[in-house]
Amino acid sequence: KKGQRLLIVSNRLPLKLTRERSGTWRLDRGSGGLVTALAPVLRNRGGVWIGWPGIPQEKAPPNLGELLDRAGRDLGYRIAPVGLSRREQRLFYEGFSNEVIWPLFHELPTLANFDPTYWLAYHQVNRKYAEAIAAESQPDYFVWVHDYQLMLVAQELRALGVNSYVAFFLHIPFPPLDVFLKIPWRLEILNALLQFDLLGVQTARDRRNLLDCFRALMPDVKWHGRGRVVVGQVNDRFVRIGDFPISIDYRSFVRRAGSKEVLAVRDGIRKTLANCKILLGVDRLDYTKGIPHRLQAFREALREYPDLVGKTTLIQVVVPSRTGVPQYRRLRAEIERLVGTINGEFTKPGWVPIHYIFRSLAPDELLGYYRAADVALITPLKDGMNLIAKEYCVTNVDNDGVLILSEFAGAASQLQHGAILVNPFHVQQVASAIHQACTMPITERKRRMKKLRQSIRKQDIFWWVDSFLRSAIAKDLSEFPQL
Ligand code: UDP
Repeated sequence: KKGQRLLIVSNRLPLKLTRERSGTWRLDRGSGGLVTALAPVLRNRGGVWIGWPGIPQEKAPPNLGELLDRAGRDLGYRIAPVGLSRREQRLFYEGFSNEVIWPLFHELPTLANFDPTYWLAYHQVNRKYAEAIAAESQPDYFVWVHDYQLMLVAQELRALGVNSYVAFFLHIPFPPLDVFLKIPWRLEILNALLQFDLLGVQTARDRRNLLDCFRALMPDVKWHGRGRVVVGQVNDRFVRIGDFPISIDYRSFVRRAGSKEVLAVRDGIRKTLANCKILLGVDRLDYTKGIPHRLQAFREALREYPDLVGKTTLIQVVVPSRTGVPQYRRLRAEIERLVGTINGEFTKPGWVPIHYIFRSLAPDELLGYYRAADVALITPLKDGMNLIAKEYCVTNVDNDGVLILSEFAGAASQLQHGAILVNPFHVQQVASAIHQACTMPITERKRRMKKLRQSIRKQDIFWWVDSFLRSAIAKDLSEFPQL
């Protein structure tokens, strides 16, 4: 409803809390696309953002409440913290969220660790979030819960007697039935999801997977409609499922792409790698991103296409992530061994095939790398969306870059017409795509990149928020916006 107050819930608050050398605490704003898109809506409607401040309760500053209140006043909406102990963080966040749901939903069930203590903690912490929401919420609030850490929140809210409209958006993929069946708590999770009023996912494939699971495991629910939003009837309530591909702030990326800081980074990179085609990979350290497969594909390309040797450089940026989970430490070692092996095989005076960066980049630095790259190599084995792909294209204001994109990234459903789509498991195919991208004539590059950038411009992050909220307010099937 117009003017209805909005309550956003996510695992982490959109703020960064750090302790300075002097011992005082500092709060910085988050800068992700989600915050950018939601901030104006929250400000206009007078909203609240609920989440974990990112620091275990034991270590949090005593004046945290005051700091958050002040941050909220600056931002123009309230900030309400959910405190998590170190143990809760370990079992709920690293454990259930990142060792069970994350691998399973990315179709890697053999990596899942189905520890029952994880499930208990997940349930308890979801209740904790629900309690924080209940304390903030009025009956007419629109509650919007984000992502896989919080799938039980609507159910816990209903148990607390909260009957507000509660919507959910899953930022990661939803797996096919056969994979979902492996989770010991499959019925509990589906039942809890049915307690939301609207379930948003990234792609049509995710929507079909979720529906397949409901149909197979909960045959009593009747589903209506066959478009991008379907409606299920659960006793006397309705639940909607729709796909809403998340995006980025197009205009802001275009504007920043031309700034002198970004151009200085671009020129610096181009100067040191003159006469070389630059391939770029940027990923969080994660086994879903297909980094080892990609490195092997690059090696294959150098072996198979000698014209690339000495004239192509891969810059691979890996952003440290979840270092508390053992799988991630092993992955880092595997990547670094491969980089060393490949560089050892091919390096010659004046040319190193892979430039490897293991740290996060400052925002302008990242854009400088995007602008310097002739080809973006984005080959996740499975990804909810992949915003790097969209950011690369939008930043490419000269329209002369090439996007090589995994068909298993959610982004492929919108970017399939301009990108070179590849199966990341098919090393020879990716190698051939690298060769094709490095030798593609400028006219074809421009044609493809214009198409890519246009599709992101039409469906930017503001479009995403708007179409999600509009689907929630449509009263009957005939009113659903045709997305
Ligand atoms: N990013 C960043 N610092 C870096 C590299 C990337 O903040 O050093 C950002 C990037 O701009 C993008 C996000 O991290 O918005 C990655 O999003 P994506 O959907 O590609 O993958 P995720 O990490 O969410 O799985």
